[in-house]
This record gives sequence, structure tokens and C-alpha cells, in this order.
Amino acid sequence: MLKVVQQKNIPLFTKVTVTSLNKNDAGKITGVALELPNGDERTLNGKSVILATGGFGASKNIIKKYRPDLAGYKTTNQPGATGDGLELAEDIGAELVQMNLIQVHPTVQQDNPHTYLIGEAVRGEGAILVDAQGKRFVNELGTRKIVSNSIVDLPDKSAYLIFDQSVRNRVKAIEFYDHIGLVVTGENVNTLAEKINLSPEVLSQTVSEWNEAVTNKQDNRFGRTTGMERQLSKKPFFAIHIAPAVHYTMGGIHIDKKTHVLDGNGNVIPGLFAAGEVAGGLHGNNRIGGNSISETVVFGRQAGQQSAEYILDKH
Ligand SMILES: Cc1cc2nc3c(=O)[nH]c(=O)nc-3n(C[C@H](O)[C@H](O)[C@H](O)COP(=O)(O)OP(=O)(O)OC[C@H]3O[C@@H](n4cnc5c(N)ncnc54)[C@H](O)[C@@H]3O)c2cc1C
Repeated sequence: MLKVVQQKNIPLFTKVTVTSLNKNDAGKITGVALELPNGDERTLNGKSVILATGGFGASKNIIKKYRPDLAGYKTTNQPGATGDGLELAEDIGAELVQMNLIQVHPTVQQDNPHTYLIGEAVRGEGAILVDAQGKRFVNELGTRKIVSNSIVDLPDKSAYLIFDQSVRNRVKAIEFYDHIGLVVTGENVNTLAEKINLSPEVLSQTVSEWNEAVTNKQDNRFGRTTGMERQLSKKPFFAIHIAPAVHYTMGGIHIDKKTHVLDGNGNVIPGLFAAGEVAGGLHGNNRIGGNSISETVVFGRQAGQQSAEYILDKH
């Protein structure tokens, strides 16, 4: 895409903040106002605008407005996930939908200023979750919502991922997690338990019960049926302290399938398109892993095509 941008001499502005969307008396989009890094303001004229400004996972204010219960949560998102696009669109009459639907990711290491999402692959390859007693408390591969809720219901509101060398061999990302100091290592289950202040007896009992479930392919405690290919028995053993954090905002700007932005009456705002996490309503109440990148590709392309058609058409 960058190559095409260069070939066609398309001006590209980085480190600017779009501060408003402009429209004319007929209600058609005419461009945007923006602020340059030095504070100067500028207007860019255009017959159409595609909003692709991402979600609002890093906006404490918007989260507090729609989900006060999540106001104190940390986030996995980069600081630019401010939800600006939602406010810009709302200011010119766009409708926002399902703003209360916010996905919380269950396994986020957050003991340092930076949060680190510990990917599903760790559980998928066989890790278990234990509470401060060293006991399992949930089917670790339930939906993000179910697993997050069960962690938040624990007295400590956090848990430990426990795994062994065989899981580590399967998940390359663990090398990175360890490299940046997120992983606690124990030569065996007992020493690991001592290092993270869990009862060695209880954790050993939990691991041997889990290994039995893996052998029998039957998790009588929590009904887990996936990520049971290998026992936790290859030394050394590892733990990562995790807790849930805001991860993805399912709600956003109301669009139709051609990415037109709709107002509160369901009418198209002429010249305004939105795609990606800034748009709402595609995922329902549980965005499935992988579906966001797919959304950005599919709807980003659609928005490009539709806005080009709009411009070339009669406008
Ligand atoms: C840690 C992590 C892991 C993830 N893993 C996956 C995964 O494995 N699979 C998957 O499908 N999804 C995953 N997601 C979700 C996915 O990455 C995001 O939903 C997706 O990247 C959003 O893309 P976007 O283009 O809509 O917005 P973004 O990529 O957020 O881009 C929006 C851009 O707009 C800029 N912007 C915002 N406001 C303004 C303004 N006023 N003026 C100018 N610019 C502005 C922002 O700075 C940003 O650069 C993950 C998310 C996180 C945080």
C-alpha cells in the first residue's frame, strides 16, 4: 500500500490529530480539520472521509461513561486507542451502537507499568490457571468473558498460569515473556509453588489431578475438552501472574454492510465511511480471536471501494 501511495504521490500526514469532521449545509462531508504536531490547525478538503481510528480501549473517560464497572481496569491497547473517531462521528450526528460491549482479556500480565497480553496459545498448548490457593477454578479455554469473570470473582482478582517445559517448547512467545521477566521458573512443582507463595501440597495435587484428566481425556472438574494433548510433567515448571484487562471494544459507529456511517434515523451520512475497530456491531458480545484483523482487512477494502465509487459517482 505504501508503494502505491508513493507512486501516486498521495499526501500522507503523520502525527496529526483529526479534530473535527466538516460537512456542508446539504449534510455532505467536505473534509476534516486537524491539528499539526506544532499546534497549528489546518483543514483538509475531500469529498469523502474514511474513519479508521480504532477502538476506545485506552480511553478511561469513554469506558467510564459506558462501563463504569471497568473504569479501574488496565488495558492491552496502545495509547492511540482513544476513541476519537467515535466522538468525531457523533458530533455530526452518527449513531453509536453497543458501546457497553467491551471485551476483557483474561490473561494479561500487569505487575509492571506496561501490560503484556499472554496469548491464548499458552492455555491452548496445555497451561492451567490456578488461584491463590493453587487450585483450578475454571475451564481455562472457556470464552474470554467466562474466564475473565471467573478470575475477577476470585478474592485476589488475579491468577497464575502454570505450565511446564513441554508447553514452553510449543509456544515461541514464552521465550519473549521470559526474556522480559514475566515468567517465574521452578525446578519442580514444589519449588515453583514456594516462589509464588502457593501451597506446594495443593499445587502438586492440582497438577497431578490435571495430568490424570489429560490421560483420561476427561476433565471432571470443569469440563475442559481442548488443550489436553500433553501432561504437565516435563521439568522445569513455570508460572505467569495474570489478571483481566480491557482488550477490545465491540461497540462503535453504526455502519451498514457497505461501511456507510448511519445517523440516528438509519440514514446514510453522505461521504462518511468507517471501518475497523471504530465501527460497532459486527462481533456481538464476544469478539472471537483473529476476527478483528479480518474485520480491518475486509471492511477497510470495502470502505476504500465504496468511497471511490461515491466520489466517482455523482458527488
Ligand atoms: C495486544 C493486542 C493483541 C491483539 N491480537 C489480535 C489478534 O491476534 N487477532 C485479531 O484479529 N485482533 C487482535 N487484536 C485486535 C486488533 O489488533 C485491533 O482491533 C485492530 O488492530 C484495530 O485496527 P484499526 O485499524 O481499526 O485501528 P488501530 O490499529 O487502532 O489504528 C487506529 C489509528 O488511528 C489513530 N487515531 C486515533 N484517533 C485519531 C485522531 N483523532 N487523529 C488521527 N489519528 C487518530 C491511532 O493513533 C491509530 O494509529 C489485538 C489487540 C491488542 C491490543
